[in-house]
Amino acid sequence: MKILSVNAGSSSLKFTAYEMPEEKVLISGAFERIGIGESFYTIKINGEKIKKEKEFASHKEAVATLIDELLENGVISSLEEIEGVGHRLVHGGEKYAESVVIDEDVVQTVSELSELAPLHNPANLIGVEAFKSEIPSALEVGCFDTAFHQTMRKKEFLYPVPYEWYEKYGVRKYGFHGMSHAYIAGRMAEILGKEDARVISCHIGNGASLCAIKDGKSVDTSMGFTPNAGLMMGTRSGDIDATLIPFIMGKTGKSLDEVINDLNKKSGYLGVSGISSDSRDIEEAVEKGNERAILSQEMYVERIVNYIAEYYLELGGADAIVFTAGVGENSASTRAQIIQCLEPLGIKLDEEKNQTRGKEALISTEDSKVQVYVIPTDEEVMIARDTYRFIQERTI
Ligand code: AMP
Repeated sequence: MKILSVNAGSSSLKFTAYEMPEEKVLISGAFERIGIGESFYTIKINGEKIKKEKEFASHKEAVATLIDELLENGVISSLEEIEGVGHRLVHGGEKYAESVVIDEDVVQTVSELSELAPLHNPANLIGVEAFKSEIPSALEVGCFDTAFHQTMRKKEFLYPVPYEWYEKYGVRKYGFHGMSHAYIAGRMAEILGKEDARVISCHIGNGASLCAIKDGKSVDTSMGFTPNAGLMMGTRSGDIDATLIPFIMGKTGKSLDEVINDLNKKSGYLGVSGISSDSRDIEEAVEKGNERAILSQEMYVERIVNYIAEYYLELGGADAIVFTAGVGENSASTRAQIIQCLEPLGIKLDEEKNQTRGKEALISTEDSKVQVYVIPTDEEVMIARDTYRFIQERTI
């Protein structure tokens, strides 16, 4: 059975086609700059990456080209072979604790939740509509970034603000990167051979969040009402004192939107270092002794260490700490700096085993009190699995 796993942004569309249940990747790729000119797309098939330039005025046009590519590359011989399309949907609010088959009600609810994710939910729905019109025979499934964190208890997800803000306006911690943390939870249950493992999942990429996991469920996470909470990230500030916002507005004459934009796009590694949001550039500048780069790296590491320590206590100890996503999977030096700070907890890094990149690996010493792993995340396969499950249930 062939299933498409899809992630639609406002001007982009990423996709992976799977043969299920084998979870074999048949083809993957991304359409970029849709509707904003100079659009192009890339496809990866049989280990080869191809880039093609073509104008796409809409997601619908991109999906039509995607179908042509699937046919031309022999991935499918007819449209009906694609039995399901799984969509990454960012915000499911308190309504969705699991993935769902997308019907009119779901579209309506996700659209209403756009208030909580104005940049993401409307774009995700454009993707849903495009596939619905181009591949009407496929079952469409929605997988939410927030769903995995719906197991958090009130004392973890509430902010200490007037309670009616929660009751009237839904002000609470929702958490994101749910599919990634859920993948890590599942993989660690397999690796450790127990369902009740206490795992601290560190998804550190351009966006970054930590998740405390117990019994395969999210107990706590560092992102909040929006993804700009918790850790310092590539361009996001993470946690700050909220009163900074009116203060900077007054000092600079910037509008609220401009200051919020600064906190999302001009802060983090980029804001502190003044160099880049990419940890590779920061590492290079650190090696050259650039002071602001060194400072930004120290701040980045310290925030991750603080959250790990917090979750270690919250979970009553930990069986494993996992590094995943761009920085977590690739940066041996950032991992080493973090683990070094965890020594008081008896956590020890095996320097040699840590020299790994993008592969599953145990990187702690044998006598480390907590095992430390690198696990490449796979959000796409989580979407494909849920989509496959719904198709199976429908046919039973
Ligand atoms: P993601 O958002 O998970 O795709 O992660 C993207 C980020 O991962 C990039 O912005 C880089 O900061 C980081 N990254 C990717 N490759 C490497 C690498 N080889 N070494 C250090 N950082 C990396």
